[in-house]
Amino acid sequence: MSLHELLIARMRQDGPMTLADYMTECLLHPTWGYYSTRDPFGAQGDFITAPEISQMFGELIGLSLAQSWMDQGQPSTFALAELGPGRGTLMADILRATRSVPGFHAAAKVVLMEASQTLRDAQKATLKDHNPQWISDVAELPDLPMFLVANEFFDALPIRQFLRDGTAWCERLIGEADGALTFGLGPAAPQTALQDRLSDTRDGDLVELCAPAIPILTILASRIAQNGGAALIVDYGDWRSLGDTLQALKAHERVDPLHAPGQADLTAHVDFEPLAHAAKAAGCAHTRLTPQGIFLERLGITARAQALAKGIGGSKLDELVAAHRRLTHPDEMGNLFKVLGLYPPQAAPPPGLEP
Ligand code: SAH
Repeated sequence: MSLHELLIARMRQDGPMTLADYMTECLLHPTWGYYSTRDPFGAQGDFITAPEISQMFGELIGLSLAQSWMDQGQPSTFALAELGPGRGTLMADILRATRSVPGFHAAAKVVLMEASQTLRDAQKATLKDHNPQWISDVAELPDLPMFLVANEFFDALPIRQFLRDGTAWCERLIGEADGALTFGLGPAAPQTALQDRLSDTRDGDLVELCAPAIPILTILASRIAQNGGAALIVDYGDWRSLGDTLQALKAHERVDPLHAPGQADLTAHVDFEPLAHAAKAAGCAHTRLTPQGIFLERLGITARAQALAKGIGGSKLDELVAAHRRLTHPDEMGNLFKVLGLYPPQAAPPPGLEP
């Protein structure tokens, strides 16, 4: 049995499935799910993320969060939290960079939200000196001030896709034909959640909805508004997305998302506008959506790279220069990736971002 066979059998019985259900099965199925079965990161893996490119990314995120903690009066107990921590590299870099911030480590309780047992095991090994607590749902986040980061977490949440048809929408569904998975379209129906997209789309346009992102954002925002703290949400995407952004990556190459389910990473661009609206509705302030390159430059990535460059040469220096470019240059991750910050309305925005 494979996930492909399981999905075909299920579709023969129940009919086509939404893209969201397909993504959930492909990424998180307990036996065959992509994240459940492997550690996908790094040069040998399927894709590489900012913290795996360079320690500078996590160090600067750590200093931004620690500065917010100081700006908010150094709460004596707080959650230092991460959503979707991968191998634990980002949190390890945050913790190393903040070691010399007086009182920060003593006050921090490290909380990690992770769905994959394989990756929880990797995080346990990376963060063994910091006694992390794992949770499966944002509702389990402790009722404390919270300084949180989520890098490439929201892009892994399941989306649905809709094609505009007059003032109604046809959902893009996945079905089977002759034992192969294929895309098809459901019947035209009005969609309340897409009411505000009638003004900026035309017949035949495709829009995406990421329903699970909204309750997650609402919980983060209300915790931060009530208890204090800050969140840095980093991901590829834009303020408002239009068109098909579903992407499958295997061994650093784009592949057909319906080919070999569970064996490629599936993601979609993050639509930041609904996240920002959910934050506001929960009484929390949000920053301007800021390109990653600008955010990292403001936090001093060039000075940090120059400091790290002292005393190294040859291929190590080349790697450092390439990593700096990759994280910040507009032709690489600098512009595609964006940062949205959340903070209490009475507090200052996290350093590197503006109201
Ligand atoms: N932040 C890391 C990893 C990004 S990959 C980095 O930058 O390297 C996405 C991460 O989110 C993985 O750890 C994956 O297992 C986790 N994840 C995906 N969907 C999740 C869900 N619904 N709940 C909790 N974790 C999830």
